[in-house]
Amino acid sequence: MNFGDLTGDKGRETGHQAVDGAIDQQLAASPQNYELWLHYQNEWTPGLKDDVDELLQRNGLIDEREAEFLYDKYFNSSRLSAHAVETGAKLASELTAALQALNLAGHRTESFSEHLDDAATELENNRLDPARLFEIVTSLSSATQEMSAQNAELTNRLEESSAEISELRTHLQTIRAEALTDSLTGVANRKQFDNMLRFRGQESRSLKYPLSLCICDIDHFKTFNDRWGHQTGDQVIRFVAATLERLALKDHLVARYGGEEFAIIMPRVTSSEAVAVLERMRRAIEVKKLKRKSTGDTLGNVTMSFGVAEMTDEDSCSTLIRRADEQLYAAKRGGRNQVCFDRRSITQAA
Ligand code: GH3
Ligand code: MG
Ligand code: MG
Repeated sequence: MNFGDLTGDKGRETGHQAVDGAIDQQLAASPQNYELWLHYQNEWTPGLKDDVDELLQRNGLIDEREAEFLYDKYFNSSRLSAHAVETGAKLASELTAALQALNLAGHRTESFSEHLDDAATELENNRLDPARLFEIVTSLSSATQEMSAQNAELTNRLEESSAEISELRTHLQTIRAEALTDSLTGVANRKQFDNMLRFRGQESRSLKYPLSLCICDIDHFKTFNDRWGHQTGDQVIRFVAATLERLALKDHLVARYGGEEFAIIMPRVTSSEAVAVLERMRRAIEVKKLKRKSTGDTLGNVTMSFGVAEMTDEDSCSTLIRRADEQLYAAKRGGRNQVCFDRRSITQAA
């Protein structure tokens, strides 16, 4: 990637603009916010500009949480993949070493068997004197001992390699899982959401299954945060994620879509069937009497608004998202704490 020229006057100007940009957003002048703004203003990272502009259009400003979320999304995940590449390289070098050890063992076995052949040829001569016979037996015995020691060493070496390789494999699996998981809530992150939506979209088109998409957002969460603080806000986000996950149907994917916004990919259900599931979620959230974990203070309740759209033949992933989002805004406009859905469906379209 070309980061342009960051030296001299041009570099100074670019740098200042990024810091100013972050500070204009009332964000801290932290290295992360600087990096975020630098990439945003110079459009170095595909997708970041659209995300930031969308948030700006919606809220006017970006807050620390959103900035942190975007930083995680765009920069931490590429760090994770660098980590994955590194682990992969270790794995490859461990495998090469194990193969080399096996190769060497193959050569040793070959020369041991030559040694045995030579001895056999000599022993066929019946008139060997006892001294030579003794010599042959002694040399065979020491060659055998050496071979068995080398075999034991090889076994150890291969056991070590195999333990190391399986550890590296587990490590790679963990990295992969981390790269697809939201760290606050443990549900799928935006990246996994994007992958899954693409997959479900293709599946729905080719198998003619319905596919519904829900986008939901906690109501008046800014007020809640202002009143109880961000940490308590985080606890509520975790509670909401756990509730959505608990009530989601099998094979449906709950993802954290943004700060206090979630998305649910709902394969094989029409939007009106989806509403029944979402109503259960809405209700479970609404009735929960929230308490602050540390002090037991009563925090009242939170509610959530839901928008659902069902994929049609004309939809791409992004138009489906847009239509679900429109329904979410209809739910917000309609007084919040409700589920709105788009009645267009594959069956109706057909
Ligand atoms: P609405 O009902 O229209 O959705 O109102 P709202 O206040 O929820 O909406 P708005 O988008 O104005 O505010 C969202 C707030 O969510 C802003 C921010 O304080 C908070 N938020 C976003 N991400 C996080 C997070 O990760 N943790 C916490 N604690 N708060 C967050
Ligand atoms: Mg909200
Ligand atoms: Mg929101």
